[in-house]
Amino acid sequence: MTEFDLIRRYFTRATPGALLGVGDDAALLRASAGSALAVSSDMLVSGTHFPPDAEPFLLGHKTLAVNLSDMAAMGALPRWATLAIALPAADDVWLERFSAGFFSLAQRYGVELVGGATTRGPLNLCVTIIGEVPQGRALLRSGAQPGDEIWVSGYLGDAALALAHLQGRIALSEADLDICAQALHRPQPRVELGLALRGIATSAIDISDGLLADLGHILEASRAGAQIDLVKLPVSLPVAGYFGQPAGMQCVLAGGDDYELCFTAHPARHAEVSDIAAKLKLPLANIGTVVAQQGCSVFDAAGNPLKLERTGYEHFR
Ligand code: ADP
Ligand code: MG
Repeated sequence: MTEFDLIRRYFTRATPGALLGVGDDAALLRASAGSALAVSSDMLVSGTHFPPDAEPFLLGHKTLAVNLSDMAAMGALPRWATLAIALPAADDVWLERFSAGFFSLAQRYGVELVGGATTRGPLNLCVTIIGEVPQGRALLRSGAQPGDEIWVSGYLGDAALALAHLQGRIALSEADLDICAQALHRPQPRVELGLALRGIATSAIDISDGLLADLGHILEASRAGAQIDLVKLPVSLPVAGYFGQPAGMQCVLAGGDDYELCFTAHPARHAEVSDIAAKLKLPLANIGTVVAQQGCSVFDAAGNPLKLERTGYEHFR
């Protein structure tokens, strides 16, 4: 199989939303009138972001999901993607399953694969995603204001707890592992939430490196601080079982890979945010408040501030 056979067989699908898709030196795209293009890349490296024997369908899903999550965090409608892939070998079974996982998620969001690059090398997956957002309506990190409520979607810490189990640091029951492994292997990008938050959220970010680290980016960009209530952090039952222990706390506050959204909104918008939660059937938890004084404090049930050590996953530390 030549490189071009491989691209044709596994990565070429109809792209009615593009002027020109896979097959030439570049794709041709037309943005909708009045929209800005939101462009973002994310790379998954074998051995760093996933084990070399990762199940290929789930890997295809996750490769696109982490990029869709960035679109969600901007309030952008994802439209097109490119895929740069380095493969140790042209393995038909692997490619069949990887592309099936990738395209099943792409189809769900109407995202078209319009190009990419394919080469031999250690397994490495890089997607560039392109979305649209009406000019002036993107959700930035820089808009949080003192007094705003801080919200997170879904549950925090599931993915990190599953990873702790797989690395042998804790031992989960099979049922608990089933729940947590979903978050780790099959993250659900919150695209619908991001779109619903246009005009409501004052800032947003997706949680890929842990709540404290990612909320920290909002606070830094907004030149503000935060007060978080530990008891308000939304956790699944498996994570709740570990919540009293340092490992559990670490997963919730600093665990990466959840791909939930963290956002801020004026308290006058509280009911609208709750309505969005009901409409999307997605839990949204108000975990604290933006304050003027910089720095992030987390308070326990008795109102005492926690001593925070590690604030998240940072690649070069
Ligand atoms: P060039 O050499 O001009 O960069 P290539 O020969 O690498 O182009 O690729 C041929 C076509 O296939 C291009 O349109 C490119 O965008 C597309 N392509 C390459 N790899 C992939 C991939 N993994 N998924 C989707 N499209 C791809
Ligand atoms: Mg070329």
